[in-house]
Amino acid sequence: MQYKLICFDLDGTLVDDTVYIWKTLHDAFDVPEDLRRRHYEEYMNGRITYAQWFETDIDAWHERGKRRDDLLAVIRQLPLMPGAIETLDTLRQQGYKLAIVSGSLDIVIDTLLGTDHFDDVFVNHIFFDAAGNITGGEPTPYDMEHKATGLRVIAERHSLQLEECVFIGDNENDVHIAGIAGLSVAFNSKSPRLDEIADVVIEKKDLREVLQYL
Ligand SMILES: [Mg+2]
Repeated sequence: MQYKLICFDLDGTLVDDTVYIWKTLHDAFDVPEDLRRRHYEEYMNGRITYAQWFETDIDAWHERGKRRDDLLAVIRQLPLMPGAIETLDTLRQQGYKLAIVSGSLDIVIDTLLGTDHFDDVFVNHIFFDAAGNITGGEPTPYDMEHKATGLRVIAERHSLQLEECVFIGDNENDVHIAGIAGLSVAFNSKSPRLDEIADVVIEKKDLREVLQYL
C-alpha cells in the first residue's frame, strides 16, 4: 500500500451544501456582509490574527442571541457528501489511517459524522454553557496555510512520510496542504489554484470516486 493515511477537508468535501460553515451560519443568522468582509480583510491584511477573526465571528452570533440549538438547526440541514460514509468505511476496512484537518467547527463533525471514523481531527472548537449560550471557543492553529502544518503533525504522530499521506479538499485554504501531500485530490473544487496544484481533480460529486486513485 503506497499510501497509509487519508486526510480530509470537511466543508464542501465531506459535508455538502456549504462552502464554509462560517458563511452558512452567517447567512442563516443575517450577519451583515460588510461586517464579515471587514473582518476577513483585516485578517488577510494581517491586522488581526486568525484567533481574533475566529472570536469576532463567534461574537457576531452571540450578539444576535444565537445559541447551541440555533447552530445545530442550521447544521442538521446540511447533507453529507454523496458516498461519504461508504468511502470512510471502505478506507477504514482497507487499513488506512483517517484524519480531518479543517477550518470548520467541531459541532459540524459531532452532528453529522461523529469522530469515530477518524484517528486525528484538527478543527475549531466552540464552547457553550449548560443553557446553550456561546461562551467562547478554541481556534485551530491548523487552518489556511497552516493546514499543511496540521498534516505534518499528524504524519509525525503516525511515523509516516508526507509521501504516504493523501489529502482531499475543495477550496483555497487547501492549496498549501495539497502541495505537501503525497497525493492531493481536488474534489468538488471551487478553487482554480487547488485544481492547478492537485494531482487529481474529481468533478463528479461522489466521494467514492477517490477510491480508484488509492
Ligand atoms: Mg472545504
